[in-house]
Amino acid sequence: MSDQPSEKPADVVVRLRATFDTGRTKPLAWRTGQLEALRTLLTERGDELAAALHADLGKSRAEAYRTEIDFTVREIDHTLEHLADWLRPQPAPVPERLSPAVAHTVQDPLGVVLVIAPWNYPLQLLLAPVVGALAAGNCVVAKPSELAPATSRAVAGLLPRYLDRDAVAVVEGAVAETTDLLAQRFDHIFYTGNGRVGRIVMRAAAENLTPVTLELGGKSPAFVDRGTDLGVVAARLASTKFMNAGQTCVAPDYVLTDPETARELEKALTEVLRTMYGDDPAASPDYGRIVNERHFDRLTGLLDSGRTVTGGTHDRADRYIAPTVLAEVAPDSPVMREEIFGPILPVVEVAGLDEAIAFIRDRDKPLALYVFTESDTTRERLTWETSSGGLTFGLPVAHLTVSDLPFGGVGESGMGSYHGRYSLDTFSHRKAVLDKPLN
Ligand code: NAD
Repeated sequence: MSDQPSEKPADVVVRLRATFDTGRTKPLAWRTGQLEALRTLLTERGDELAAALHADLGKSRAEAYRTEIDFTVREIDHTLEHLADWLRPQPAPVPERLSPAVAHTVQDPLGVVLVIAPWNYPLQLLLAPVVGALAAGNCVVAKPSELAPATSRAVAGLLPRYLDRDAVAVVEGAVAETTDLLAQRFDHIFYTGNGRVGRIVMRAAAENLTPVTLELGGKSPAFVDRGTDLGVVAARLASTKFMNAGQTCVAPDYVLTDPETARELEKALTEVLRTMYGDDPAASPDYGRIVNERHFDRLTGLLDSGRTVTGGTHDRADRYIAPTVLAEVAPDSPVMREEIFGPILPVVEVAGLDEAIAFIRDRDKPLALYVFTESDTTRERLTWETSSGGLTFGLPVAHLTVSDLPFGGVGESGMGSYHGRYSLDTFSHRKAVLDKPLN
């Protein structure tokens, strides 16, 4: 909305609804045109966006492209490749007693939808849902996070230049502006962030019976079984935990393993971190910073929760916290009482699989569960005896890069899902159509 900064949220919604009512957003050609325009924006303005991500989070250019810009481009390409197919009406068999008749379903756009994004992947988590909303033929209000101000400004400046500005609007701002937006009637609200605000969003949505998707967080555990190759495990844990300085909703939050494996894993993690970021991670161009001082203070307050294996140093002026591994962490220590969302990896010891399963089941359902094992029994048991948004064996975070898998949480980690055709389902209504001849 940067081109019309004085426009109130209510007026934005009225303007977008008028566009939707013309039917302009429904044809496949409009949808693919918008997706192609968004792709052009990302490729033409990638460096500008990467610079904004660096200003907000110290993200390296490579990480900005990999986890935000190219990620979104891949989501667009996947959608462009399959959209016509996904939109084809799905025939349904009709029972004999209604014969002759035919039945099918169509994917009806919802109308005007609201996408509210957080600061940690401020571009990807705003635009990937927008891709789904446009593919489904909706008008969209996109609300970036005020805690990533450079990215918010860049998106607000660029989107109206590339997309249909009567169908897509960016509303910048913090709590006051979001509260104003939530007072409007939307046809769907897609919120990514923490559960406290998730509840505020759901309460506001209930006023209008607006459906919501809540992409929330929580503590995603990583179970490391006995007898796994700990060099590989450490490398995969470290690369996914310390990416974006640990500020990733699906980052492995903590490790569960037996005491013997824990000792070996500590050594392997120390070695891997030295290879990844050198002896002084503060000087590594690949290592990010904490988003703000509030989160910095919260995180440094968690550092005393166990024996420091590696890391532990920090610098408030630079919002730097070294990649840190904590060992012999008690289940009730401060670092285990909240989602860490930073570069601290606690290792919690359990006697074995039974205790690990009990530990996971005793807590909120996580957004993801990661498992390193060579045992089929362990795989089976963790698959069927625990509940989580996603479950990944061997490589944390990877499931969310597969466009054909739904991405979302369960219970306290959220409701609903998106990516690929699941985004289309989220942002449209599957309408039942029955046609019985009059004679
Ligand atoms: P945030 O502080 O940027 O908040 C998210 C959005 O909510 C922002 O746009 C903000 O303006 C809005 N907001 C904040 N307070 C509000 C209020 N009182 N009323 C209305 N709107 C309000 O981000 P955050 O919540 O700190 O993000 C981190 C959390 O998000 C973590 O828990 C993380 O796990 C989760 N997360 C989940 C996913 C996922 O895909 N499931 C992805 C990233 C982050």
